Amino acid sequence: MHTTYASNAFTWDGETLTLAKMKTALDIHWHRALPKHVKPSSVTVSKDGANRYFVSFLVAEDIPALPIITSMVGLDLGLTSMVILSTGEAVGNPRFLQQDEKKLARAQRRHAKKRKGSKNKEKARVKVARVHARICDRRRDYQHKLSTRIVHENQVICVESLAVKNMVKNHCLARAISDVGWGEFVRQLAYKSQWSGRTLVKIDQWYPSSKTCYECKQVVDDLPLDVREWTCPACGAWLDRDINASKNILAEGLSVSACGGSVRPVRVQARQVTPQ
Ligand SMILES: [Zn+2]
Repeated sequence: MHTTYASNAFTWDGETLTLAKMKTALDIHWHRALPKHVKPSSVTVSKDGANRYFVSFLVAEDIPALPIITSMVGLDLGLTSMVILSTGEAVGNPRFLQQDEKKLARAQRRHAKKRKGSKNKEKARVKVARVHARICDRRRDYQHKLSTRIVHENQVICVESLAVKNMVKNHCLARAISDVGWGEFVRQLAYKSQWSGRTLVKIDQWYPSSKTCYECKQVVDDLPLDVREWTCPACGAWLDRDINASKNILAEGLSVSACGGSVRPVRVQARQVTPQ
């Protein structure tokens, strides 16, 4: 459920928001501050499944491009870590779902036991939705911190368009992948790169980044998922599966963008600010 208010349907004095027909200002817990001296062109109020209300402001804001730097990075979705950088750094895996899994299972069991249509059923439903919301919030927060950091630290960022190569029919693995939310993470990298004058290069999802030896470019036929380290049969290089893949992604991304395959960074004027 959400309602959008045009500029004549709310008042904003720089600190408080009052909607039309309401006498008092809304009690807002700010997720982030609005830029100073801006006039929101619209305000949207929404409610999620956990019965939480959100207010988002649409504002125009000039975002200065970051100073140009020379560092470039390739990113790969790891299995045991969320992201592997071509520098060799593995960035943690916040297994939010696993941490909160028990809580969620308990809430879901309780919900299932309640009588259909009863008040208690609705109460239990909200509890389940709250645990879900908490998991989503923590995941998004983590992804935002990481995507901001990567955009700040690198001029060119290369990723695979989809992390399909790891999507095997393995329940636990599928879970871990949805847990880290690669698609959302790449989406954040894309718009933050655009804002900051960085270049995000998405390489073809079928490029064999794991199975290619970074040293000699030999492609092996098969590399089972449980093989974490391997030796290239052609050149004898010892390779860490994930680091090798992210190095290949960087090299491939750079060669693609040198051929004009990448989108030039475009500055955008407006973005949505969503306090909560
Ligand atoms: Zn090799």
